[in-house]
Amino acid sequence: MEAISRFISHLCALSIIFFTLLILEIVVLARSVAGLNPNSGKRVITTTQYLKLIEQKNPTICYTKKLKATECSVCFSDFEEGDKVRELKCKHTFHKHCLDKWLQQYWATCPLCRTKVLSDDVVASYHRLKNQVEYDGSDEELIFLLSSLQDDVIS
Ligand SMILES: [Zn+2]
Ligand SMILES: [Zn+2]
Repeated sequence: MEAISRFISHLCALSIIFFTLLILEIVVLARSVAGLNPNSGKRVITTTQYLKLIEQKNPTICYTKKLKATECSVCFSDFEEGDKVRELKCKHTFHKHCLDKWLQQYWATCPLCRTKVLSDDVVASYHRLKNQVEYDGSDEELIFLLSSLQDDVIS
């Protein structure tokens, strides 16, 4: 008798977890479908596409003494001959990796004079993707947590 009641409570725990997982999966699925819906007008671009656009507009160059700038205003260190840098349209120069990081974190403007580096449309599309990725990440964490809980019940 005891074995049967233990079996039933085990079954109950399993079915609760199963339904929670099912609901979570539906939520995740619904979210990804909404993201892909072309009628929503929410275009997204990936980090690779975003960096490619930056590269197209402001190609990476090797630093030489011919460039007027001597210091990168993002990391405040002096440029050295051969450093990979980008010179923006406003003639401000930064390390490639410093500027790329800056442009991914903030609205795409020159760190010094705030001249636009990319159009608002492109930046908005990129930040939209970043927000979506953050949401998906939390869902995945929740599913991982639940499935490790499920393993505990089974073992
Ligand atoms: Zn720098
Ligand atoms: Zn500038």
